[in-house]
Amino acid sequence: MITRKRVIFTDLDGTLLDQETCSFEAAQTALRLIRSEGIPLILCSSKTRSEIERYRRRLENTHPFISENGGAIFIPKGYFSFPFPYGKELNQYVVLELGTSYPAILDALESIRREIGVKITGFSDLTEEELSALTGMGLDEARYAKQREYDEAFMVEGGKEEIERVKKKIQEKGMNYTWGGRFHHILGKNDKGKAVRILKALYENEYFSVLTIGIGDSLNDLPMLLAVEKPVFLQREGEPTPSEVPNLTLIQGVGPRAWNEAMLRVILNAH
Ligand SMILES: [Mg+2]
Repeated sequence: MITRKRVIFTDLDGTLLDQETCSFEAAQTALRLIRSEGIPLILCSSKTRSEIERYRRRLENTHPFISENGGAIFIPKGYFSFPFPYGKELNQYVVLELGTSYPAILDALESIRREIGVKITGFSDLTEEELSALTGMGLDEARYAKQREYDEAFMVEGGKEEIERVKKKIQEKGMNYTWGGRFHHILGKNDKGKAVRILKALYENEYFSVLTIGIGDSLNDLPMLLAVEKPVFLQREGEPTPSEVPNLTLIQGVGPRAWNEAMLRVILNAH
């Protein structure tokens, strides 16, 4: 039997990381197995490059990663053995940019605010101190979370109706809306799925036969789950099942404990 090269794409917030404490301690068993099996673990988050780089260091992860809901793919130089087209080089990476520039996104959000009169507070409207106080992030974390390049995270004052109006306006402007479990997001016509497909093609070029696994907990993860062969969804109590994703493995509960259980199950069964 030919063993396929397994590649795991994982969300961070509420998935590998605890939603409150951002700890991944409870996932250590599966993380060790993934490392010992030589499986690339691709961090794929709404977080910024600077935020993801911190977790990548803590996880001793040397693989490519995807920032800001598929805004860009960062690939360590020399990671793949063949040449491929990329947009720019940045430090030790080559970068494939899929997102719209942050200033253009802020302009769109500003005009939406003016047009519908809903109170919208984006990360760019807040100081590090305010963002930290509002979200419970540490000051450092708030600083990295504000270093946005392709996506604005925001809060909406009001209920479902206001959120629906904002969503509709974003779509009218030809941009994407998504929800990451804690914040709303406005971004260009990119999503995690597009980025996952591009990386998957690069892995296929390198290894020929690849088995992709994806794991997430929110709406912004669905494009990623639709792009992989083995999608896993961590489900909060009372949340609907994403029925549009075929072959879905559903795990009750979110965060690193659920991630650990899900990954052990999937890795041991996936060839
Ligand atoms: Mg999440």
